[in-house]
Amino acid sequence: MSSRKGEGNPSVRVPCSFDLGVNTGCNSRCRYCSFWRQDHQDLAFELIRKFFRGIVALGGRGPTVNVVGGEPTMRDDLPLILAEGTGLGLNMVVTSNGYRLAENAYARQVVGAGISQVVLSLDGFEQTNDELRREGGYRLVRAALATIRDLAPGVNLGLLSVVSGRNISELPDFIEEMLEGGVVDNITLQALTNDLGSTPDTPWYLSNPLWPSNLDEVEEKLEAIARMSEISGGKLRTSPGQIRFWKHYFREPARVLQVRPCSIGDTFLGCNPQGNIVLCPFLPPVGSLVSDNVLDCFYSAAADQRRAEIAVCRSACNFTVNCRYELLSGAASFRGEKREHQSV
Ligand code: SF4
Ligand code: SF4
Repeated sequence: MSSRKGEGNPSVRVPCSFDLGVNTGCNSRCRYCSFWRQDHQDLAFELIRKFFRGIVALGGRGPTVNVVGGEPTMRDDLPLILAEGTGLGLNMVVTSNGYRLAENAYARQVVGAGISQVVLSLDGFEQTNDELRREGGYRLVRAALATIRDLAPGVNLGLLSVVSGRNISELPDFIEEMLEGGVVDNITLQALTNDLGSTPDTPWYLSNPLWPSNLDEVEEKLEAIARMSEISGGKLRTSPGQIRFWKHYFREPARVLQVRPCSIGDTFLGCNPQGNIVLCPFLPPVGSLVSDNVLDCFYSAAADQRRAEIAVCRSACNFTVNCRYELLSGAASFRGEKREHQSV
């Protein structure tokens, strides 16, 4: 019988998706993110290896590890990290701003590590993207996409775009060009939320210059994008329902402040660049790889406490807005009906 609290308890589900933050700091300057203001700090390779072994020990089928940062390509040893994961049978995904992957030699090492997917970031055509992210960024990412396609045609190429007031007007055309032209295999959209480095639940959108002001245009463009999603055969990965939900989000953001229970504890486990194990990126860690292993953290008393907090959390965090549509969209309320935890 296990000595770990919660181990063997059927209500504690082993996650299928793992985030590994390999560093802090970033070489971009995105207007909706403060990660680039952080000092650069790498998570020790030994702790990364410990994390991978912990995932394997947790069990579960086909675990996917999403390697993030900061900006993971700022590490020269990223290819070694990825190879360590694939060598243990883990499905490795790299999420990056893509700038350094425009370097052929570095991109060759990264895709040569056996990864299954690369997700790069573009928010629109050149002028818009570079205004939102970094001067010269668009050309670097387009070069990176072409390089990876050429080096490793079997690697799934994805794009991540943040929907904001600055890019909404051109987003349908941009998505069409990226998908129809076969530039990428798929696109995932995220709605603008509070900066990941800040605290959710403040009315941050009131003073954010990227928050859309022309809400009629937002509705029209989001409806056009939702229709594109319906016929995209999954290439536009964000579901039509989620895209239509954002019409309400942009019109009445305060209404998502109170929602039904969060599911993140069932699907997610993360290791941040400090080596802390988290069940939710916005709540305190449940342990540290410096002193514990993944199993001990996952089945700890702190993890039980965190699961209880998650079950009652009503935060309007990034996950709420971008990954929890099904919970929110019991959104009968958005069709004018009354909702259980209505906040406004
Ligand atoms: S959004 Fe990504 S690419 Fe942009 S500054 Fe933040 S971490 Fe860097
Ligand atoms: S809603 Fe979920 S993901 Fe967001 S802060 Fe609460 S527990 Fe974390």
